[in-house]
Amino acid sequence: MARSRQPLIAGNWKMNGLRADALALATGVAEGCKQARWTDREVLVCPPATLIMAVAAAVKGSGVLVGGQNCHANASGAHTGDISAEMLRDSGASHVIVGHSERRTDCGETDAAVRAKAEAAWRAGLLPIVCIGETLAEREAGRTLQVLETQIKGSVPAGATAAKLVVAYEPVWAIGTGKTPTVAEVATVHAHIRRVLGGLVPDASAVRLLYGGSVKGSNAGELLAAGDVDGALVGGASLKADEFLAIAKAA
Ligand code: PEP
Repeated sequence: MARSRQPLIAGNWKMNGLRADALALATGVAEGCKQARWTDREVLVCPPATLIMAVAAAVKGSGVLVGGQNCHANASGAHTGDISAEMLRDSGASHVIVGHSERRTDCGETDAAVRAKAEAAWRAGLLPIVCIGETLAEREAGRTLQVLETQIKGSVPAGATAAKLVVAYEPVWAIGTGKTPTVAEVATVHAHIRRVLGGLVPDASAVRLLYGGSVKGSNAGELLAAGDVDGALVGGASLKADEFLAIAKAA
């Protein structure tokens, strides 16, 4: 029986890779996906913006999808150094990550800004992956569920449906640290996220919820099997084709 929520394994390359490295990585992922002939999961890579066009060309025909890591809320204008969702689309992207914790921290992105970026993604025909996650201090204060609820309500635009939204739960303290929540914690948090989405999205039960934070080949199986987990957003481990493919295989 086909799963109602097709797993999505997304690689966030962050600010890593020059053209040669990126093309080698993209080709490795594309070759692995071609050999695997997966029709029951989606594999996405999100290179730096400078490499989207080259990576899109390199993975063509493999089924691998390409996304951006951020976009501006506006389609064009006087925003030096920024990139619009339309530009990402024009370069070959189909998805865009919005509200990653590194952007929330480094660039002061608020929930309202993330929401505007998700709307910009829709305007350009991109699928936004809206990131949320609590800090260590918030977790230790027992505020995780409350923080996530606030982020979801502030970051998910009105009019969202399962076809127009992916949510990635990325505990900030788990990103790049090698630490992960327990499988039970991930399941509890994802169930909570789906409950909150229930008040905002008509078909919340069909929204794909990704877990992100120190996912690697060796822990992907158990994390991806947790209740309400429909894939992974992968940072460090997405920079090695074999490791990333092992995660995709575990989906
Ligand atoms: C990320 O930054 O989205 C991420 C999950 O990073 P890592 O996998 O390296 O923890």
